[in-house]
Amino acid sequence: MQLTGPAYREYDYILAGGGMAGLSLAYYLSKSSLSSRRILIIDRGIRKEQTFCYWSAETSDFDFLAEKSWESLYFHSSRPSSIKIAIEPYTYHKINRKDWFSHVEAELSKYPNIHFLTAEIQSIAFQGVGSLVQTSEGKFYACEKIFDSFSPFPCDNANPKHLKQHFLGWEVECNFNNFDTEAAHLFDFRVAFGKECEFMYVLPTSPRKALFEYTFFSGTLREPEFYRDKIKSYLFAYYGLTEDDYLIKEEESGVIPMRNNPNAVENLYQKHLKIGTSGGFVKSTTGYSFYRTQKFCQDLVASLEKGPSPQLVIPHRPWKIWLDEVFLQVLIDQKIAGSKVFESLFYNNKPALLLKFLQEETSWKEDLRLMWSVPTLPFVRAALKTINRSKIK
Ligand SMILES: Cc1cc2nc3c(=O)[nH]c(=O)nc-3n(C[C@H](O)[C@H](O)[C@H](O)COP(=O)(O)OP(=O)(O)OC[C@H]3O[C@@H](n4cnc5c(N)ncnc54)[C@H](O)[C@@H]3O)c2cc1C
Repeated sequence: MQLTGPAYREYDYILAGGGMAGLSLAYYLSKSSLSSRRILIIDRGIRKEQTFCYWSAETSDFDFLAEKSWESLYFHSSRPSSIKIAIEPYTYHKINRKDWFSHVEAELSKYPNIHFLTAEIQSIAFQGVGSLVQTSEGKFYACEKIFDSFSPFPCDNANPKHLKQHFLGWEVECNFNNFDTEAAHLFDFRVAFGKECEFMYVLPTSPRKALFEYTFFSGTLREPEFYRDKIKSYLFAYYGLTEDDYLIKEEESGVIPMRNNPNAVENLYQKHLKIGTSGGFVKSTTGYSFYRTQKFCQDLVASLEKGPSPQLVIPHRPWKIWLDEVFLQVLIDQKIAGSKVFESLFYNNKPALLLKFLQEETSWKEDLRLMWSVPTLPFVRAALKTINRSKIK
């Protein structure tokens, strides 16, 4: 079925931004008791190359779309031997953007009340009891709520103290078998020689095809050629591949904010709600948001089904936010190399516990255990800085 264009000027819900978060929310609305509401999804319609990777312990609606899933991961550091870790009960999945969007759009097209508009969103303003969205294709009115995933998240790309996950990746294909598909390489810190947190991320999806992503958790962005040169050198150093040996099938790049949301926490009484990256759905210490977005959107729909409530869009957990702040401060301070921090976490803890922690599913006792496993001084110094900062506020 075709996606339907807007039939009305007035909708119950308007989803301003139809990227991953907007469509995830529309998907869960369509599966809920709110499925008959008039919903308009507005997007400018330009989509970049992108993959969605996540780890989960339980099966989710989209696992079947994964191009590849792994039960084990490699961790490489400056130590002579690399470790291969079983991540049970978790599985790491890689979904290609095109497969995910095609599937979700096909599901949404089954609902005649869910409409799509390709347009530039210009502004959002309150009007009467609802809100008005001004677009390049005219004005649309949301009687109940606007879910905004298009507004920029406050992160300054030029400010080195605003940490970002910045990366450029190539999907390469060889005409001979070259890659061990048994495990994904989440962190390869053998490329990190300085204090900045940089690593290669490798997802071998077949013996001939793999995604190589040169990644930084830092405040200073580089020119695209810098990341490309790093990938070329890596392919040669670790796989013996020269440029004649592979084809670059796709290139993807991104700058993802690694900051806690400085905006006020939102509750469901509000008419204009930010979701996705705009709403701070990205986990600040990892840059991952696909899995969290699914969880937050499911919870959001469950709360909307109950009617007006003070429920928060994102659970507000000051302890977890503080732990993130400290971790980010350590990466900003660079008193210790980022690679050493991850090394201590991976070598001193069970990998599943670490993944649980990064998913914010650990208890405070487990958090304390993890905190003991990292180098004390840089973390104490960073913790004091965050405490002083909050006193000044
Ligand atoms: C290359 C890349 C790879 C990533 N890989 C992963 C991953 O593996 N795992 C993971 O968990 N996270 C990943 N992320 C992070 C995150 O999951 C994605 O950024 C995700 O797309 C965020 O969803 P979103 O809806 O918040 O933003 P987007 O998907 O960017 O959606 C925002 C939408 O708003 C629209 N828009 C913006 N401005 C306007 C306007 N003025 N008018 C109309 N429309 C507008 C855009 O067209 C876009 O479709 C990745 C990010 C990038 C960039």
